[in-house]
Amino acid sequence: MARPMTIIGAGLGGLTLARVLHLHGIPATVYEADASAGARTQGGQLDIHEHTGQRALEAAGLTAEFRAIIHAGAEATRVLDPRGVLLFDEPDDGTGGRPEALRGDLRRLLLESLPEGTVQWGRKLTGVAALGDGRHGLSFADGSTVTAEMLVGADGAWSKVRPVLSSANPVYSDMTFVETYLYDVDERHPATAAAVGAGVMYALRPGRGITAHREASGVIHTYVELARSEEWFAGIDFGDAAAATARIAAEFEGWAPELLALITDGERPPVARMIHALPDDHRWSRVPGVTLIGDAAHLMPPSGEGANLAMLDGAELALALAAHPDDQEAALAGFEETMFARSRDEATEAQVIQELCLGERAPYAFIGFIGGHGLDWVPAWGQAVSDYRGEDDEPDFDDITVRMSVPAGVGGSQIRVELSNRFADGPVRIGHAAIGVGSRFVGATFNGQPSVEIPVGASRWTDPIELNVAKGDDILVDVYLPGPTPYATAAGFRFDRSLPGDFVESLPFPLEGSAPAAVDESREFPAPNTGTAPDADAEPDGTGWSLPAGGPFLRTVEVAGTEPKAVVVAFGGSSTAMGWPQYTADLLPEDAAIAVVNRGISGNRVRLDAPPQTPSWGQAGLTRFDDDVLGTAGATHLVIAYNSNDWGLPGRVTAIEEMPTLAQLVAGYQELIDRAEAAGITVVLATITPLAPELRVDAHREELRQDLNTWIRTSGHEYVDFDAAIRSDADPSRLEPRYAAPDHTHPSIDGSKRLARAMVDTLDRLQLLPVR
Ligand SMILES: Cc1cc2nc3c(=O)[nH]c(=O)nc-3n(C[C@H](O)[C@H](O)[C@H](O)COP(=O)(O)OP(=O)(O)OC[C@H]3O[C@@H](n4cnc5c(N)ncnc54)[C@H](O)[C@@H]3O)c2cc1C
Repeated sequence: MARPMTIIGAGLGGLTLARVLHLHGIPATVYEADASAGARTQGGQLDIHEHTGQRALEAAGLTAEFRAIIHAGAEATRVLDPRGVLLFDEPDDGTGGRPEALRGDLRRLLLESLPEGTVQWGRKLTGVAALGDGRHGLSFADGSTVTAEMLVGADGAWSKVRPVLSSANPVYSDMTFVETYLYDVDERHPATAAAVGAGVMYALRPGRGITAHREASGVIHTYVELARSEEWFAGIDFGDAAAATARIAAEFEGWAPELLALITDGERPPVARMIHALPDDHRWSRVPGVTLIGDAAHLMPPSGEGANLAMLDGAELALALAAHPDDQEAALAGFEETMFARSRDEATEAQVIQELCLGERAPYAFIGFIGGHGLDWVPAWGQAVSDYRGEDDEPDFDDITVRMSVPAGVGGSQIRVELSNRFADGPVRIGHAAIGVGSRFVGATFNGQPSVEIPVGASRWTDPIELNVAKGDDILVDVYLPGPTPYATAAGFRFDRSLPGDFVESLPFPLEGSAPAAVDESREFPAPNTGTAPDADAEPDGTGWSLPAGGPFLRTVEVAGTEPKAVVVAFGGSSTAMGWPQYTADLLPEDAAIAVVNRGISGNRVRLDAPPQTPSWGQAGLTRFDDDVLGTAGATHLVIAYNSNDWGLPGRVTAIEEMPTLAQLVAGYQELIDRAEAAGITVVLATITPLAPELRVDAHREELRQDLNTWIRTSGHEYVDFDAAIRSDADPSRLEPRYAAPDHTHPSIDGSKRLARAMVDTLDRLQLLPVR
């Protein structure tokens, strides 16, 4: 005959335990400190997971009741950057498997399923004494005492039962969540409501973030997450709501007003929830007659699993007791072994999720995690898009199909592409799209739809497509633009335009009128494509420009089903944008499995943004680093390969006051290096190649280049000597004519190939190439 159970704590864990025990005829009493069921608001919405929370509810016989309290549509997930720009957006299409419900509704449902009197309210446990034979004497704050035949501590983080089993105490995990609420959001906070969307919105940076849940009845419940010490938080008086709000908001200075409003417009005083955790491998030796479940057993940083695990613990413990009515000790021992293993894994995972959300690669690591649907996606090709508004390089589109052909740097069995509308004054409508390899095309969908409207500033990924692609294959991306669409977000210039109409998947592709213009060698970069294919064996001939593949909207092509050894991001100005990354990929052996992603932008500078007349020269490297480097899935290596724009443009194209000092340049490089290394990315610096003599204007510019190169060669970082690879031996201040493009500033095709060879040698030195 099973002994009656004494449960401390009427949280989700304790109540699930009581309910499943009740279903199996085992009597239980729950002692809860709260004065009544409604004494405290019960926190926000929880997503209830299939293998944990939903399993527990099934064991509790409450699946139908749970379905009735689900907040439909709330599984939508989006990630915004601090400017409010959408980085990731996944609507709730009903297939997510993690329905959301209010914690209070779940608790009510469990309470209503228990016999009257099961929960004894207002009974705060203060002490536990072992009485022998597995029995325990319990003392409560109201002076009452009870003898427990079988005791379960379901009393959360600061369990009073835990000391009977373990000496472990929760430790502050250097993270606090400040909770705020907005009400009637559609009427009273429409901009914030629109930013948060229908489900959960994350805006995350290293060490700080805002996670906001849209709950039923127009409520937005927000956790403002800050990785700060206990002392830092102790300095804030949360009794003074206005001052506390202002102090927290100050940590988010410069963020979009609609995001800041989640802090500053809070309609309840902010509440600081300091996050504590027990050791990941917390366990104890069996003590007769007592065990723990939920946070009492395995408090961990929030990862969306804590309440789910507490419920599963409750259900599994009840089922174990029901299965061993004559040997409850065996039931407890079996239950604990399963729980210890599970909670150790979950605690490790929770730490990983914290790191994804608020670590150095936030939010991109997190986007990769939630966007990958369990697959590891890696870039097979990429470019850095920039802002072509107001520049006359290309006409706009209207009822035209664009075909881009880009080479796959690594192969895979699935493919998806990112189309970007980062720079535009209005949304871009993609009427129809397809991805092809060889002559095999597959129609692309966006969240199951054949067309998509990309909001201003955002990207949209195609749904994954099963398509085998091998290194070196040409990947075709067809995009039909049904209406007037500006040429605004782009990079490469090697793409085809169709005659008017939708020619997605058409073979042959009906090209718009004229053939590509012949190369005008007098023109400065960017120049039209020479169309010359990479040819590793060609003799240097000193002519020609190298231009990479690419085109409008297309930012990244990713593949899954492969495990590259390295993902190398090439980051820099025009000489990088022009082609050495592509030639590097071409030179790598088939089995090298190294993805080289070109995030160069012509005209780009390390420290300063593009001058207003040429926005396509892009934001400063220091600004776009997050999007273009950290935003490259799986980046392992960064090659910082700028050219002379930082000191070549001032006094010629921009004001002379923009001329940097060597110290400022070094500081800029050092910041890029520090940010990459903090994200676990290995940095390779490239020395800077010479400018044409007529662009130097004065000797100071050449001195700056030489001094920066000296720093690069002696600073102790890995480097690739691009300067040495293509400068003239006779006059080291000039490019070797054989490797110079017509402007004597950029490498020619052969010059780019020579840089690529230097890069391959560097990858070899880093032991990334297969050993022969
Ligand atoms: C900021 C934050 C966000 C979170 N978000 C999520 C999420 O989205 N999804 C998720 O699954 N989990 C989430 N969690 C974790 C989740 O809240 C806990 O893991 C879960 O509540 C644990 O349930 P429990 O039943 O073990 O304990 P609790 O929910 O803590 O319940 C313990 C109960 O015991 C009572 N009690 C405590 N001491 C005594 C005493 N001495 N005597 C009598 N009664 C006592 C308490 O009043 C309470 O009712 C989050 C946690 C935090 C801090």
